[in-house]
Amino acid sequence: MPGIAMRRAVRRCNRLYREVRLVAQALKSPRHPVFAHMVVTRRCNLACTYCSEFDTFSKPVPIEEMVRRVDRLAALGTTAVTLTGGETLLHPQLEEIIARIRSHGMIVVMITNGYLLSVERIKKLNKAGLDRMQISIDNVKPDAVSMKSLKVLDQKLRWLAEHAEFPVHIHSVVGAGTAEPEDALIIAKRATELGLGSSAGIVHDPTGHIEPIDQRSRNVLEEIERLSKPLFSFARHNPWRKNLLEGRPNDWHCPAGGRHIYICENGLVHYCMAQRGYPAKPLAEYTQEDIDRESKTPKSCAPYCTIFCVHRVALLDRIRENPREALVQLFPAPEPGQAKPPLPVRALTAAFSSQKSSRSTELFRKAALRILNLH
Ligand code: SF4
Ligand code: SF4
Repeated sequence: MPGIAMRRAVRRCNRLYREVRLVAQALKSPRHPVFAHMVVTRRCNLACTYCSEFDTFSKPVPIEEMVRRVDRLAALGTTAVTLTGGETLLHPQLEEIIARIRSHGMIVVMITNGYLLSVERIKKLNKAGLDRMQISIDNVKPDAVSMKSLKVLDQKLRWLAEHAEFPVHIHSVVGAGTAEPEDALIIAKRATELGLGSSAGIVHDPTGHIEPIDQRSRNVLEEIERLSKPLFSFARHNPWRKNLLEGRPNDWHCPAGGRHIYICENGLVHYCMAQRGYPAKPLAEYTQEDIDRESKTPKSCAPYCTIFCVHRVALLDRIRENPREALVQLFPAPEPGQAKPPLPVRALTAAFSSQKSSRSTELFRKAALRILNLH
């Protein structure tokens, strides 16, 4: 049996192929959900005081129903599914759900507070084919606001560093009512030390609007961004994030309800976790017409929205519709030492977004479609 380094390398290649394919599909067509967030149970084993996403009593969504929902997402052409809660690890058949998503060729990510992780559970998640895991950690030591603490979770992170065949990303929210914004930096440094990814977001209120953060918190965010040096960082290249940090609104179109959908525990489709209640139609009855209509519907909450996964798909749409303008906005002339997008992103963008194409672009586009199995 190959060692973990070899298994990780093989899975990394496979994941990269499928992620490039996701981008190519999004650039090729505006008519399918790129990202879906799906709740597997509303129940959580913790009770963070700032959270409006959990209860203490709901049962897990039955596996037969989860399978039906996964199959319906695949039929709508969804390319990536993020499993969320409540606490995802409270679902006793989580691995079956993950395997079902993978069986359709979709990318599968899970969000967890990490409390219920064990070596055995990590190995089961490997086997099921999990693509990525995000763990939220709020502080260094537990306090009255949040128990999601580095002190409590460090052993789990060490197990993940040793056994997980999927990338693990530690996410902290600055301004989440935690006493010390510098905690987020300590958490990010520990993640880096263990070879795990890290990022920090900005706290938003239950409607998805940003809450003001002070200069101290901003400095922490900037330092965390400097810690992780990927070729391309969405946080670093998100043209709307800077405005939000400075308290200014953004002029963008939110495609939620079409390009990004949120499915609650009752199987209803909502725009996002912050805007539950719209359009609140059962996933089983959600159609291409719904996707097309909701993608185009203006959302009054957009100017101050902090839901970055929806920003991400909106940027892909912007690149497809108006590549030159979007790329200039996304990647202003790089200053010395500043990151450029990775070559595959630039090549795919050029191939799929140009309206008037030369013969060589056309040939490249055809070859890419064939390699990505999209022709
Ligand atoms: S662990 Fe997550 S879902 Fe549970 S209460 Fe805290 S923030 Fe909410
Ligand atoms: S703008 Fe879109 S993603 Fe943001 S809160 Fe509103 S509906 Fe949700």
